[in-house]
Amino acid sequence: MQTPKNIGIIGGGQLGMMLLQAAAVDSPEVNYTVLEGSEDCPAQPFADQMLIGSLKNDSDLRKLASISDVLTWEIEHIGVETLVELEKEGKTIIPYPSVLKIIQDKGVQKLFYRNHGIPTAPFVLVNTKSHPPKEILNELKGSKVVVKARTGGYDGKGVQIVNKSELEAGNYPFEGEVLLEQFVEDVLELAVIVAVDQQGNTVTYPSIEMYFNPKSNLVEFLYSPAQVSEEVEKLSREIALKAVKGLESPGLFAVELFITSQGEIWVNEMAPRPHNSGHHTIEGCVTSQFAQLNRILLGKDLGSTDLLQPSAMINVVGPEDFSGTYFLSNAADWEQRNDVFIHMYGKTETRPDRKLGHITVTASSLEELLEKAENIKNAIRIKPS
Ligand code: ADP
Repeated sequence: MQTPKNIGIIGGGQLGMMLLQAAAVDSPEVNYTVLEGSEDCPAQPFADQMLIGSLKNDSDLRKLASISDVLTWEIEHIGVETLVELEKEGKTIIPYPSVLKIIQDKGVQKLFYRNHGIPTAPFVLVNTKSHPPKEILNELKGSKVVVKARTGGYDGKGVQIVNKSELEAGNYPFEGEVLLEQFVEDVLELAVIVAVDQQGNTVTYPSIEMYFNPKSNLVEFLYSPAQVSEEVEKLSREIALKAVKGLESPGLFAVELFITSQGEIWVNEMAPRPHNSGHHTIEGCVTSQFAQLNRILLGKDLGSTDLLQPSAMINVVGPEDFSGTYFLSNAADWEQRNDVFIHMYGKTETRPDRKLGHITVTASSLEELLEKAENIKNAIRIKPS
């Protein structure tokens, strides 16, 4: 396999930025072009070249393809039909566009799990115009149901927990095709990152325990290794691997899992790209999720996924009370430390719930890690500048 000289990245957000940061160290000789709607994006300072255009537009995607030996994406909401055609024309696209076809529609994704024997929360697919008959709702246990828009949602947008009685009355939070899912009480959320190289070899990362903000639904805090039994760790990695293998594609994937209070392990969803749940791997693991994806794109063998030491990550998110230019007020104190790593994404303006950066904390024991991370989490302040 020839090493590519030019790689095209569809999307210039923070995931693209961190992929480019890894590439700057590991493959400075390769030329990386980023397609994004504007120069004002996190990836721009690290890209060899920017292509300004739409991530959904056929001619813009083709322009990027024409100057790239390999294409990848850092966001799912892109023009998949063009990518399918480009692949037929012989372009190497990692992951394969067929993966996006499954992931872009949460209904199709749930059917994929069902058809591949991968455990997932019980669900039904409905159109909001037709009231679901009571019998359908009875398939989902409990008095609450999670309604998910099948397409277009991200970071909890397009996900609402409602009472079954609301649905029986025809009151949906969204219109159109939706996925109704059983609400999992007291759920523990894990993620397992899985990498598949171009030869089909696979590795999994140690499991990650995630905590979400109940209002914004954004990951707020996570750490690895997760505090679960060896058996749950092993099964979680096996289930995540089985789900990813079913996609039959190289790439870097994050599998989000629900651990129910009965100890069942259900796949919630998969992201076919680096993911917020893997940001701690930059300092926490031998090979970060970004370096791993870069290796896959370059056709190299997979790197070790071992954890160097327990690691936590705290998202730095725009506060509710203001929008505009900002600064992270405590950064100077933390910059001196060798166990705290600040990653700000260079976004000029904050908005409520906008992901502005993240902070990784490392420690020699889990106990020390959780205490340190809690202190940092409580001290983060975004202030107007
Ligand atoms: P998104 O694709 O926007 O991230 P998810 O389907 O992952 O949406 O849902 C976002 C969050 O909502 C999950 O991480 C979890 O905290 C909560 N959630 C989603 N589905 C369920 C469920 N069936 N039971 C309990 N909580 C859920």
